[in-house]
Amino acid sequence: MKRRDLLKAGVAAGALAALSAQAQSAQANQPGILVRARNLIFFAYDGMGWEDYAIAQFYARRVLGRPLALERFLATGVSGLQNTHSLTSFVTESSAASNAWSTGVKTVNGGLAIHIDGRPLTPIFALAKQQGKAVGVVTTATVTHATPAGFLVTNPDRNAEEQIAEQYLEFGAQVYLGGGQRFFDPAVRRDKKDMYAAYAAKGYGVVRTLAELQASNASKLLGVFSSSHVPYEIDRRFQGVAVPSLAEMTRAALPRLAAHSKGFVLQVEAARIDHANHLNDAATTLWDILAADEALEVVMNFVDQNPDTLLIIGSDHGCGAPALYGTGPSYRLSSEGIDLLKNEKASFEFMQARLGNQPTPEAIAELFRTLKGVALTPEQAQAAAAAVTQRTYLPDAVRYGIQPANTFSWVMRQTEANRVNRANIGWNSGQHTATPTLFGVYGRGVHTARVGLIDNTYNFTLMTRALGIRFQNPVMSEQEALEVLKTRAQAPILHPEDVLA
Ligand SMILES: [Zn+2]
Repeated sequence: MKRRDLLKAGVAAGALAALSAQAQSAQANQPGILVRARNLIFFAYDGMGWEDYAIAQFYARRVLGRPLALERFLATGVSGLQNTHSLTSFVTESSAASNAWSTGVKTVNGGLAIHIDGRPLTPIFALAKQQGKAVGVVTTATVTHATPAGFLVTNPDRNAEEQIAEQYLEFGAQVYLGGGQRFFDPAVRRDKKDMYAAYAAKGYGVVRTLAELQASNASKLLGVFSSSHVPYEIDRRFQGVAVPSLAEMTRAALPRLAAHSKGFVLQVEAARIDHANHLNDAATTLWDILAADEALEVVMNFVDQNPDTLLIIGSDHGCGAPALYGTGPSYRLSSEGIDLLKNEKASFEFMQARLGNQPTPEAIAELFRTLKGVALTPEQAQAAAAAVTQRTYLPDAVRYGIQPANTFSWVMRQTEANRVNRANIGWNSGQHTATPTLFGVYGRGVHTARVGLIDNTYNFTLMTRALGIRFQNPVMSEQEALEVLKTRAQAPILHPEDVLA
């Protein structure tokens, strides 16, 4: 049965509704997390599943010689799991996930703080702002991307980022830091509006480089450091790409927000873990998790020094289902395979930009040798070249993905049973997954009997309780959403770039 028919038959509908009801009754039965806080920090890992965490945890211990801040958090703090499904799919994307966190209700994939019938929802940071809180968002995606935007504004189209740049100006947060110059730059915007000038006129310091960020003493900041998303950590670190790290952006945001007399709310998003997972790029995923970990450390230190702050961490969904697989006798070569990740010095994205549109197999083999530390066979190099020049993808273009990088990943996979020449990390897809994800809370005021498994909408309950806000957004049932979708000529089609969402 096709998915469409499943939905028609109401099979998926019933199952999703039952899951929600179950999660809600579980929440009603648990004591919950009791905490009041002046400041709130929401730390989002975009597209991170548990195997991603495991790989980063073991790399940190084995190669870097220290545990992750996130491992310490999980070992000592209050943590659990969250279900992430959207209103009409077990597999969410980032806007529906952000909406669940920020509005407390499930929505259809694709819009920001809005139901599919056009009913707007009020997101958590808008409620906090009404209370007088300062607001900040820090992300490695475009600053106008779904996960931060869903906490601030309402828009039926998550990809309307030029418009979202205008909505942000109207919203008036204290700090906006991330990528996305193209949505602010008059030379690139379709309407030629100079959003930099518009922000400056409203008192924002506008910065576009790390040096400008560090030199600025403006109390309100718009910082956009790249045309699109902020380049990957692996490229920043090893290829000299000059952008601030997530930790550096977070360090710039915190004092500006903390200076506010009525407290603040901040979202920090490690956005590109998701993108690297879409591309099946193991070392790139790893380094973005390590960069997130440095930012988490900054945030946890702030919470330790400012105990009236609540920190919530979470991942919005899994992506790609990577895993470290057992290799060799007693699986002991798996650990050695992890060591090989340190030979990788660039992302597939960086390599593709170097290669251009017509790379030769020889040029590809050379780049894999120098930047990924692997020797490709002529056949593998040929297959990688064909992915770029002819858009023929391995092992297939349905389940795995529709980008050359997925083939790059495939041709450099571990193929030998008893000798490790790759990190034996395998991928099942280049798409999002349905896994329950990370959830945790941190702060001196946190006390709870049990967290266990929550629904992602519980984050809204937690945040409103912590801030002393009483608010309920309108709930839509899955059946109602499916009725609306049926009346459309077609369901909203996700933009091609949603594959990277
Ligand atoms: Zn994604």
